[in-house]
Amino acid sequence: MIPDDNFITHESVPGPTKEEIRCIVMCKSSVSKNDTVVDIGCGTGGLTLEFAKRSRFVYAVDKNIDALDTTQKNLKKHNLTKKVQLIHKDALEALKDIENFNVLMIGGSGGDLPSIIKEGYKKLKINGKIIVTSILFETPVEAIETMKELDMKLDVVNVSISKGNILERGTMMIAMNPITIVTGEK
Ligand code: SAH
Repeated sequence: MIPDDNFITHESVPGPTKEEIRCIVMCKSSVSKNDTVVDIGCGTGGLTLEFAKRSRFVYAVDKNIDALDTTQKNLKKHNLTKKVQLIHKDALEALKDIENFNVLMIGGSGGDLPSIIKEGYKKLKINGKIIVTSILFETPVEAIETMKELDMKLDVVNVSISKGNILERGTMMIAMNPITIVTGEK
């Protein structure tokens, strides 16, 4: 895993997804070296880079041009540009032009989540996974309901991670935001 402080960041772009969350996402995605991955809402590129290291090819989509620029900088920094195509479009638009894939990662949806899941499902290969990570309380509920409608096999986890800050007197645990990870298998 790439350490959090090894990413170039931009003030208007969220991310990178914290290292421990990236670990769980990689694990739940079952991504492997012949897979094609679509990362909707690539942001800083936290998940894009981890998928690029473990798959055949990644399509990284974001509607914010600063996000694509930041992801591109991070891909260069880590020598991964050849494994990724950056797409400056809204999720639904982008999904129309992409070939079939094994993993659909949704890290940002802008209120369009059910449509993105349904559109993505059409191009998802059998046994492929759709993963939704969210900080908002409502998002997982939407994801679960939509995936149930599609008859996907569901896995839901909510994690609250605290990281140790090493001080002279001892180790102070700093709590990070709880994150929910919803995974649906086709
Ligand atoms: N996983 C990223 C962080 C994602 S932040 C990382 O690890 O770095 C969420 C991103 O989703 C933002 O950059 C936002 O611009 C993008 N986004 C939100 N809704 C979108 C949509 N409908 N289409 C494309 N991108 C979207």
